[in-house]
Amino acid sequence: MAIRNIVKIGDPILAKTSRKVEKFDSRLWTLLDDMKETMYAANGVGLAAVQVGILRRVVVIDCGDGYIELINPEIVKKEGEQFAEEGCLSLPGEVGTTCRPATVRVQAQDRNGKWCVYTGEELKARCFCHEIDHLDGIVFTQRVIKKENAQ
Ligand code: ZN
Repeated sequence: MAIRNIVKIGDPILAKTSRKVEKFDSRLWTLLDDMKETMYAANGVGLAAVQVGILRRVVVIDCGDGYIELINPEIVKKEGEQFAEEGCLSLPGEVGTTCRPATVRVQAQDRNGKWCVYTGEELKARCFCHEIDHLDGIVFTQRVIKKENAQ
């Protein structure tokens, strides 16, 4: 495993749409292992592959209740809404309040290609939305309704 460099805002790759994963091979597993190590080293709760410069629909998440890997994730259900502060490893120092669904159900493949369903509330729901946004070239500041550190 290796810690990879986290892409910072200003890099045009963050605005690009990531491609679907077709091959569940050792190259994907190395990417996942590296992303896991990179996320923990940066004290993050989630990381999308584009944040390490790879335009593939791959996300790793650990909101404190266990590590999960999401390949080709899709939001299949959203309920309610929540307003909370959000930040991003690619936007150091930036914090803002976003409106996200209160509960989110995500369908995704695991590292072997098997489809699984995950449900998240509170932080985990925000994290699912935030990371899946990255796969579509969206950063959280585009969702901010109130900037905390506005001058
Ligand atoms: Zn982010």
